[in-house]
Amino acid sequence: MNQQENQAQTAWSIEDAERTYGVSSWGGGYFEIGKNGNIHVIPDPRLNDVRIDMKAVIDEIREENIQFPVVVRFHDVLRSQVVNLNETFREVISEAGYRGKYRGVYPIKVNQMREVVEEIVDAGQPYDYGLEAGSKPELLAVLAYNNNPNALTILNGYKDEEFIKLALLGRKLGRKVVVVIEKFSELTLLIKVAKQLDISPIVGLRAKMQSKGQGRWQGSSGERAKFGLNISEIIKAARLLEKEGMGECLKLLHFHIGSQLPEIRAIKDAVNEGARIYAELVKMGFALEYVDVGGGLGIDYDGSKSTADSSRNYSVREYVADVIYGMREMCDLEGVEHPNIVTESGRAITAHHSCVITEVVGEIKPDGAHIDTSAADTDHFLLKNMRDLADHLDDEINYQEVYNDATQYKEQASDAFKLRVISLEELGKIETLYWSIMRKVKQFYRGAEFVPEEVQSLDFSLSSQYLCNFSIFQSAVDSWAIDQILPVVPITGLHTPPVNDGSLVDITCDSDGKIDKFVIEHAIDHVLPMPAYSSDEPFYLGLFLTGAYQDVMGDMHNLFGRLNEVHIFSYDDDPQDFYIEEFVKGSSVEHVLSVMQYHPSSMAIDIKRQIDKEVSIGNIKPREGVKWTDFYEHCLAGYTYLNTDKK
Ligand SMILES: *Cc1c(COP(=O)(O)O)cnc(C)c1O
Repeated sequence: MNQQENQAQTAWSIEDAERTYGVSSWGGGYFEIGKNGNIHVIPDPRLNDVRIDMKAVIDEIREENIQFPVVVRFHDVLRSQVVNLNETFREVISEAGYRGKYRGVYPIKVNQMREVVEEIVDAGQPYDYGLEAGSKPELLAVLAYNNNPNALTILNGYKDEEFIKLALLGRKLGRKVVVVIEKFSELTLLIKVAKQLDISPIVGLRAKMQSKGQGRWQGSSGERAKFGLNISEIIKAARLLEKEGMGECLKLLHFHIGSQLPEIRAIKDAVNEGARIYAELVKMGFALEYVDVGGGLGIDYDGSKSTADSSRNYSVREYVADVIYGMREMCDLEGVEHPNIVTESGRAITAHHSCVITEVVGEIKPDGAHIDTSAADTDHFLLKNMRDLADHLDDEINYQEVYNDATQYKEQASDAFKLRVISLEELGKIETLYWSIMRKVKQFYRGAEFVPEEVQSLDFSLSSQYLCNFSIFQSAVDSWAIDQILPVVPITGLHTPPVNDGSLVDITCDSDGKIDKFVIEHAIDHVLPMPAYSSDEPFYLGLFLTGAYQDVMGDMHNLFGRLNEVHIFSYDDDPQDFYIEEFVKGSSVEHVLSVMQYHPSSMAIDIKRQIDKEVSIGNIKPREGVKWTDFYEHCLAGYTYLNTDKK
């Protein structure tokens, strides 16, 4: 280690790590870098003394022989988020002298895992916090799990007759089930079925908004929105209900201008527009009780507090204040009652509570294997030229010229090889020399004030690719599909300075299976700084804020399937401050194959028959045959991801 590096090492502090990875910027108060250089979880920021060391969680997962990758769920974080949103509304409502109540619902499409929904319902009980469903399967779940008669059940999405009957069953069971009309024909169907069954529905109307959300999902509003009624349809719907003697069933006005709204102004605009529609309907004689402002409360995934797509330029409190004060102002001007406020925040409730822990299982270096490049008389002049360059690198030389020459020789060598002018061996030597020259060029410019543009790109082309045991299509699908930034951080070793950097690749056979956008020092970088780690010990990376959508939208690309999951509860009396409450086994190979219509048990029989045949003709010994049969069955029953167990 030279002196400079030595200084860097002693000067590196946890604050430097924090600046590099921005953990407290995106962590929402739930994550921090501990003094020992490990990521710590703060399950309930209001009880500030409880800290869970993620390393301890990983150690326990290993002791339990649970294979990685693993989804880790922190139920306390989920509860904290529910309490936080409800308490913030309570505070702002009382501070504003607002006369309506807050009656939030959690849209289960954001994460339908039963344990997640149960935890949210339980934490929301004191607030009469409800659920939202957008499809028949979700409605069936919500009917069974939202059994608080005071909490709302909001039904969005396109509906058929069965959907509507299920909603009316909910009314029979004494629940506040609101059927939100997304398109006009649903209303005529609802009126028909309600009259047939003689059950009084609670009706909501979804308005197509003019106010545009910014960001990825701005198509959720405007004329071409997929859902909702335009103004003339809203008037027609209200009048139809009145004519059918069901005017008093109309209780709710709904809008939703898109998910992950980066810009607070869009929220203010929408609240204004929605409040005016509400007020006018009330003045037309409809006693609406609720205004549902939908979802959209954003998450600061990149920690920049900006209007970037992966961020938001407001806090939860500002969001709540804009909703409540905006609604109050319009209602007071219009002289109508303050309605109860519904929100459908999903992302904001669930994003922080889960993360994916994956193991680094290999490092792919761009320069491959360095082979012996010593000179031979027969060397082609392209190889001689490259060697000459490599042998004469000193501080006097013009490194930009070296870069240009080496790049040119390499291109020429590639052509020469295709034209059968140089041999495979010569090409291999040229490649080795080229990469060692590039490393020197990069080193020369380190810390320099001016770095030529092409040399800057060396940082990326010389960086490693860390092969990680997970599938991006299963665990972080938005990072592939819509370029969503998700925080990725090494779980340990952050008290020491990074020694290397690289991008991540997953284990699918798909070149898109990679992550090469990270938020480093508050800016987007293509490589992740990595602390030193030993290849004898497993090294873990955390993919954070995966609790919203990522958890449940993953697909079966390469048949990897769902991850093993552990559910963590904090527990103050435990020496480690936590315990694993539940282990949910991930997909087995058998399971993913049967989803694709295979018959794993007959496959096993078939393989056994083939092995038996080889045994009968003496190609495999009988004992060996039994072992191979068992092994095939063992793999069928096993986990789909790489087994990195060294035992
Ligand atoms: C998806 C969706 C939500 C959830 O939005 P978030 O931005 O995750 O809070 C709420 N309401 C409706 C109608 C939705 O389609």
